[in-house]
Amino acid sequence: MTLTTLKASLISLILPNRCPGCDALLYPGELLCADCEGKVLLPHDDYCHTCGKLRCFCQKRTVFYDRAIVCSRYTADLADPAVRAVWALKNTQNTNFARFAAKIIAERLRHSLDYGDFDLVTAVPMHPSKKRIRGYNQAALIGKALAQELGLPYRDDLLTKSRSRAAQHNLSAKERLTNVAAFDTRNVDLTGKRILLCDDVLTTGATMDRCAALLKADGAAFVCAAAAATTSRKEESKEELP
Ligand SMILES: [Zn+2]
Ligand SMILES: [Zn+2]
Repeated sequence: MTLTTLKASLISLILPNRCPGCDALLYPGELLCADCEGKVLLPHDDYCHTCGKLRCFCQKRTVFYDRAIVCSRYTADLADPAVRAVWALKNTQNTNFARFAAKIIAERLRHSLDYGDFDLVTAVPMHPSKKRIRGYNQAALIGKALAQELGLPYRDDLLTKSRSRAAQHNLSAKERLTNVAAFDTRNVDLTGKRILLCDDVLTTGATMDRCAALLKADGAAFVCAAAAATTSRKEESKEELP
């Protein structure tokens, strides 16, 4: 038994592995129960592979990311296993959904001709003060898991979040489009790089768009927005997101 598996076994004795979608007890190593696994998957052909939305907005505005790939649909139903799993990822130590989403996204990338190959994985950054409070950046957990699935390097030194702005989910769709200026680049040379940019929930796409624009400004050739879940338009108002 390695130190890592010993540590995992000890943790599982103290904190039993539970399904983030319904709280059912799981065997060590399982990520979701079979019932929730069936419910959280958004069919790959049900959303636009360019903007990542169920109702494509590609004709209405230009986006800086070139492709989008998602795992689940984020609804306004608080009993929905995907919504519960995203909530658990943000608010509890249960990070199973990050690994589950990464596994699904990796499978979809392997089986689709729409995306091509990638050089590295990164994630939408979190402001350091928020990270101190939460203890981790959930987007980075997805990014690290995806990098591991695909055998790619994970980079957390490409973008920064310089100011703690209002949380996106507290804003209207219109306000979200202008609440993204707090991101900045660290001026790493990314010439020609094809990048997977991860986040937990793709709402208006404004955050991914701003981060993709910054990566492109540093030379990135192609950016794919990879999100654990995507909302549909009626779920993007601040009243409906938990
Ligand atoms: Zn479950
Ligand atoms: Zn689209």
